[in-house]
Amino acid sequence: MLRRALQLRLCRCLLARRLGSRRGASTLAWDGKLSEIKKKIQSVLPGTWEPLYETSHLPPEQVDVVIVGGGVLGLSVAYWLKKLEKQRGAIRVLVVERDHTYSQASTGLSVGGIRQQFSLPENIQLSLFSANFLRNINEYLAVVDDPPLDLQFNPSGYLLLASEKGAAIMESNVKVQRQEGAKVCLMSPEQLRNKFPWINTEGVALASYGMENEGWFDPWCLLQGLRRKVQSMGVLLCQGEVTRFIASSSCMENTDGEKVTLKRIHETHVKMAHSLEYQPVECAIVINAAGAWSGQIAELAGIGKGPPGTLQGTKLPVEPRKRYVYLWHCPQGPGLETPLVADTNGTYFRREGLGNNYVGGRSPSEEEEPDPGNLEVDYDFFQEKVWPHLAQRVPAFETLKVRSAWAGYYDYNTFDQNGVVGPHPLVANMYFATGFSGHGLQQAPAVGRAVAEMVLKGNFQTINLTPFLFSRFYLGAKVQESNII
Ligand SMILES: Cc1cc2nc3c(=O)[nH]c(=O)nc-3n(C[C@H](O)[C@H](O)[C@H](O)COP(=O)(O)OP(=O)(O)OC[C@H]3O[C@@H](n4cnc5c(N)ncnc54)[C@H](O)[C@@H]3O)c2cc1C
Repeated sequence: MLRRALQLRLCRCLLARRLGSRRGASTLAWDGKLSEIKKKIQSVLPGTWEPLYETSHLPPEQVDVVIVGGGVLGLSVAYWLKKLEKQRGAIRVLVVERDHTYSQASTGLSVGGIRQQFSLPENIQLSLFSANFLRNINEYLAVVDDPPLDLQFNPSGYLLLASEKGAAIMESNVKVQRQEGAKVCLMSPEQLRNKFPWINTEGVALASYGMENEGWFDPWCLLQGLRRKVQSMGVLLCQGEVTRFIASSSCMENTDGEKVTLKRIHETHVKMAHSLEYQPVECAIVINAAGAWSGQIAELAGIGKGPPGTLQGTKLPVEPRKRYVYLWHCPQGPGLETPLVADTNGTYFRREGLGNNYVGGRSPSEEEEPDPGNLEVDYDFFQEKVWPHLAQRVPAFETLKVRSAWAGYYDYNTFDQNGVVGPHPLVANMYFATGFSGHGLQQAPAVGRAVAEMVLKGNFQTINLTPFLFSRFYLGAKVQESNII
C-alpha cells in the first residue's frame, strides 16, 4: 500500500522530482528555474502555495547501477565506472549510503596505511597501482575550481619483523614483491639496530623494510575527494538504506544434472532516513560495497539461502569484527623516523603527527574476539595484550601514556581475510567489492577499477583478480596471503 501510495504521489510530483534528482553544476540553474515556476504559480493561485509532496530527497526511479555503500570502495567503483564509460553520461550510477556522517564506516576509522609488502602478486599489484593513484591524486580527482587535495601522505615505510620461524617466508615474500616492482629491502638484526637504534631486536631474525610507496595518509581526505569527484562526474548520491531486492529467477540444470536457480535483481528498495518510506529503484547492476555489512546485503539477495554444501547455500563470509586503535604520547619514543612497525606477533604501531604521539594496536585472537555489537573501547586489552609487546620491542614505550582510543569494524572475510571482487555466479548482476579485512582502504583505487572493468568489459583487464572471485568460497580455494596484519 505504502509503495502504491508513494508511486502515485511520485507521478504527481514528477516535475519536482526530475528537478531534484539533478546534481552538480546544473543544480543552481535548476533551482533558479524551480523558484521561477513557484513564483508564477503563487502569482495566479490564492493563498500560500506548497508543493503536494517534496520528493527531491528521493533517489531516481531508474538507474543503470546501484552501489550499496558510499565508503571508499563504493565511491571508487562509482569513480571508475564513470571514468571508463565509453561516452560521457552513458551510465547512470547511484550510490546509496545510509549514514552520510560515516560514524561506523571502516574507512574513516582506519589507520590509513598503505604497503606493498604482501605475499601474493595480486595484492602487491593492487597496492602498487593504488600507491600510484595516491601519488597522483590530483590528476585523478581534481575538480575544476576546487582546491587541490592534500592526502597528508607520510612516506615512512612499513617495517615488518620476522622470528626465526617466519624468516624464510619473509625472504621468499620479498622476492615476489621485488619481482612485482616493489622496492623492499631485507635487514639483519644488526642492520636493524643501526638504522633504528630504539628497537630491541630480541626474537627478531629478519626484517623487511619498504623504501617506496609505503606509509600512511588521511583516509577522510581520500573519501571526501572521491565524493566530490564522483558528484562532479554525474554520480547520484543518496542517503538511505538498502533494505530489499526484487529479483526474477529462472531454473536451470548444470552439466552434472544439478538444478540451479539463476537470479537477476531488477529493483532495489531504498528506505529513506528517519522515515518509513522507501523508494523502489529499477536497476541493471548492483554493486555490494557495504563493507562490514556486505554479508547482510548478500543475504538480502538470497545469497547463501540454499541447501548447505551447494553454491546456492554458500554465504558471503564477510562480517563486522571490532578492532581497537590506541593513541599514546611518549616524548622518549622513537621520533620522526618511525615507520609503521609490525611485530612478529602482529602488534603494530606508527607515528601520529609530529608531537610525540603514536597509534597502534593488535588484532585479537579468535578466542579474544570482542562483541561487535558496539564500538566501545576495551582499555584492558591495551594494558594486557598490547602494551607488554610494545614495551618489549621499544623499551622507551615503558613510559607511554594512552591519550585516547577508538574502535572500528574490519570488513572481515572469515574464509581467508582477502577481498571479494567480481560477480556472483548465480545472482549474476550482483558484483562484490568487499571483504578486505584490514587492507581495503589502500586497495580501493585499484579494486574500483577492477570491478568497473568487470561490469563494463566482462573481464579483468589490468590486474587479473580471478582468485578473488566469490566462487572460491564454494570451491574451498583460499587466497593464501601470508602478510595479513
Ligand atoms: C581500525 C582499522 C584500521 C584499519 N587500517 C587500515 C589500513 O591501515 N590500511 C587499509 O588499507 N585498510 C585499513 N582498514 C580497513 C579499511 O578501513 C576497510 O577495508 C575499508 O575502509 C573498507 O571500505 P568500504 O567502503 O568497504 O567500507 P566502509 O567504509 O565501512 O563503507 C561501507 C558503507 O556501507 C554503508 N552501508 C552498509 N549497509 C548499508 C545499507 N544496507 N544501505 C546503505 N548503506 C549501507 C555503511 O554505512 C558504510 O558507510 C582498517 C580498518 C579498521 C577498522
